[in-house]
Amino acid sequence: MTISTSSAYIFECSCGERFNNAFAASHCKKCRNYSVWGYTKYVINTETEAVVHGELPTDEEYIAAEAEAIARWEEEAREFEEWKAEQDAEHARQLLEEAAKKEAAAKSAQEDEEDRLFELQDKMLGLM
Ligand SMILES: [Zn+2]
Repeated sequence: MTISTSSAYIFECSCGERFNNAFAASHCKKCRNYSVWGYTKYVINTETEAVVHGELPTDEEYIAAEAEAIARWEEEAREFEEWKAEQDAEHARQLLEEAAKKEAAAKSAQEDEEDRLFELQDKMLGLM
């Protein structure tokens, strides 16, 4: 008896992922992100070349979907960059706030020290 292993993964979805059954292939999660369709457009039985789910696109349909996908991915990339810039700005604001607090604390400590020296001076003058 021979045990079939990787050869069982004969169902290929529109993003190129292989599955061992057509149902799982038709629900491929990677297609959402990695296929130009944004969903599982089709599943092919790679042994028979038969389309077992959905339908194969024409070249024109693929080109149109690809153009849309590129626009969608660029939009997502832009949104991510915006989000990242906001995070960076927030982080920079926090750093500035901390620096300002430290400076204020240092200034306050210096003033205390000056007060202490003046007091000491007063006492010493009073003793003289
Ligand atoms: Zn897929």
